[in-house]
Parts: sequence; C-alpha cells; structure tokens
Amino acid sequence: MKIIDEFDRRSYRNVWTVSECAGGDIHPVSYELLGKARELAAAGGCEVWTVVLGSGFSEHLDALYAYGADVIVAVDDARMRAFNDELECHVLERLVEKYRPEIVLCAATSRGRALIPRLASRIHTGLTADCTGLAIDPDSGNLLQTRPAFGGNIMATIKCTDYRPQMATVRPKVMPMPSPEPGRTGRLIRESILASDTLNIKEILQTVERREPTVNLSEARIIVAGGRAMKGPDGFRLLEAFAKQLGGAVGASRAAVDNGWIAYPHQIGQTGATVQTDVYIACGISGQIQHLVGMQSCKTIVAIDIDDTTPMMKLADVSVKGDLFEIIPELIKELNKGGSL
Ligand SMILES: Cc1cc2nc3c(=O)[nH]c(=O)nc-3n(C[C@H](O)[C@H](O)[C@H](O)COP(=O)(O)OP(=O)(O)OC[C@H]3O[C@@H](n4cnc5c(N)ncnc54)[C@H](O)[C@@H]3O)c2cc1C
Repeated sequence: MKIIDEFDRRSYRNVWTVSECAGGDIHPVSYELLGKARELAAAGGCEVWTVVLGSGFSEHLDALYAYGADVIVAVDDARMRAFNDELECHVLERLVEKYRPEIVLCAATSRGRALIPRLASRIHTGLTADCTGLAIDPDSGNLLQTRPAFGGNIMATIKCTDYRPQMATVRPKVMPMPSPEPGRTGRLIRESILASDTLNIKEILQTVERREPTVNLSEARIIVAGGRAMKGPDGFRLLEAFAKQLGGAVGASRAAVDNGWIAYPHQIGQTGATVQTDVYIACGISGQIQHLVGMQSCKTIVAIDIDDTTPMMKLADVSVKGDLFEIIPELIKELNKGGSL
C-alpha cells in the first residue's frame, strides 16, 4: 500500500513473521524468523507479532512466545488443515489491512513462495525474496534487505521506501536458530475465517500424503559434498560410503547435479539447499559464490582439492591438498578400523 504522508507511514507498526504450520506442527524456520524479528524490533522499538494459519497448533503457542513473539495472531480452522494459498492469502490480506504491520517476514519454503508473492501483489507492496541479511537503517528506519543478485556476483541491499508493509522472505537455515526463553509469554489474538475470505476461491477436495524426500540436508549434522571432480556416479558412491561412516548426508555442487551424477535434492547453493551443519566436507568443489551462499555458515568447513588456491580451500578451516580419490579411501579405511577424523 502506497504511503500517503508521514502520518500514514507512522500508522504501520511492528515486525510480523508468518509462522508455518503443517499438520499441526510449526516448521522450525518459523523460530529462525522470530529470532531475526526480535533483533529488528529491538532496533525499531516495536513488538514482534507472528501470524499462524492452520489447524490444531495450540500446543505450539508457548514455543512461539519462547522464541520471541510478543503477540500471536492465530487462525485455527480445519479448512486450513491442508495448505490453500488462495485462502491463506485472503486471510493474511485482511489481517495486514486491519493491524498494519511495518515489516512482514516469511519463510522461503515451497509454501511461503506460493503464498507471499501473491500477498505482496494484492496489497501493492514490494517483496525481496531469499534475503541473507536483514537490518534496520538507523537513519530512515527502513528495512535493509540484502540478497545475492546477478548470479551471486554482487550482494544487493534493497529498500522499500514508499510502500508498506516491507516484505521479505528468508530461506530455512539462513538465519541462526535463537535460544528459546522458556516461560516467556505474550498476547494471543484469535481471528476467524470470514465468508468473504472463501468467496470464489478454490476448495481442496483431497490431499495426498507427501513422500519422504530422498535426502534431508537441512537436518544433517555432517555433510560430505562432491563437485565436478567426482567425475561420475561412481565418485558419489565413494562419497556415500564416506558419509555413512561419519553418520552424515551427501551433498553436491550444481556441476555434479547438472551432469546427472546425483539428484537435485542433494544440490547445495543459491539454486539448491542452504545448510548450516556442524561439519561440511567439500570434496573437489572449487567454491564459486553460488555454492558458498548455501554452506558458508557451517561451523567447521573441511576442503579437499588438488588446487590450494580455490575460494573453498581459502574459506575452509581445514584445507587438505591432494587427490580425493586417494585421500577419501584412506579416510574410509581408518574409520573402518574404528578411528575418528
Ligand atoms: C545463476 C546460477 C546459480 C547457480 N547455483 C549454484 C548452486 O546452487 N550450487 C552450486 O554448486 N553451483 C551453482 N552455480 C554454478 C557455480 O557457478 C559453479 O559453476 C559450480 O558451483 C562449480 O561446481 P564445482 O565446484 O563442483 O566445479 P569446479 O568449479 O569445476 O571445481 C572442481 C574442483 O575440483 C578440483 N579437483 C579436480 N580433480 C580433483 C581431484 N582428483 N581431487 C581433488 N580435487 C580435484 C579442482 O581443482 C576444482 O577446484 C550456479 C551458477 C549460476 C550462474
């Protein structure tokens, strides 16, 4: 909504997050968003509100307060058991018009990506997708929304100066998980679905249970990732054996995925998954910026490469120069003997 004057600008208050609810559970990224929202609200001197649209999530409300919500706006309705982007968008539009948030943050999950651009378009405001940094401009109070642009070659900081709310999405695992404060409480506002929300929109007749993904990189503590140097599917079988010994998962660069050596859900980077593991072992991955944006927040990075001048070898906490086809079998042998890395 375009800001008409200073009075209008000031009528928008508070930082909102959209908490994602599926089957009564709250997606962990919702807590990551609350952590960032707390920082922004502290800088802007306002409250953190979170909106939960779904069904049967009441047991999780305490957790939302504990992770940072001052106010929860809850719409708990069986018609929202399955995700319906049109219905959620209508309800959110009404809530935004009623409460006038200054900032709205949403997860860049498949649900968030379906919902939030639709909302931004309906309420005529800007949206910055896949932000990696969010801060309040101390001079203007605007939200500074930073994200990779032009294929990851520059980091762009975007402002939405003349429209409200300012809207941004953030991918899971990009913002750190805040520490919860057990016992923290706040206000609860219950809202309902109105007849006008359901007028002329699609109805979900049947839902099909999701098949388990082949790999869940976001939950892995250790990832062994391979790049173009793996040379083919056999190279990835070597990495699978290595990852299995370590209790980790296998990741890949886009070069490996594009070559068809491993499936897309394993891809890490700008156009793949973002991960934040305890240990990330990059095997023959040069570390182009599009790969780094997906893994640079991992706690300990190990790189194996024949060339010690690559960006990945420079970024790594431990860089091992050498041929991975000699090094990895030796490591597997050591682990088989009961050794550790
Ligand atoms: C819009 C856009 C989006 C992109 N998104 C992504 C993304 O999400 N994820 C991603 O990964 N890429 C992405 N890319 C591609 C990215 O720019 C790089 O091309 C890609 O990451 C390179 O993959 P790589 O490191 O495996 O290959 P290379 O850059 O070719 O590196 C291979 C490395 O292996 C080393 N090596 C070779 N043989 C051996 C050996 N025997 N032992 C040890 N080391 C060896 C080499 O020295 C080299 O450092 C994107 C590009 C664009 C333009």
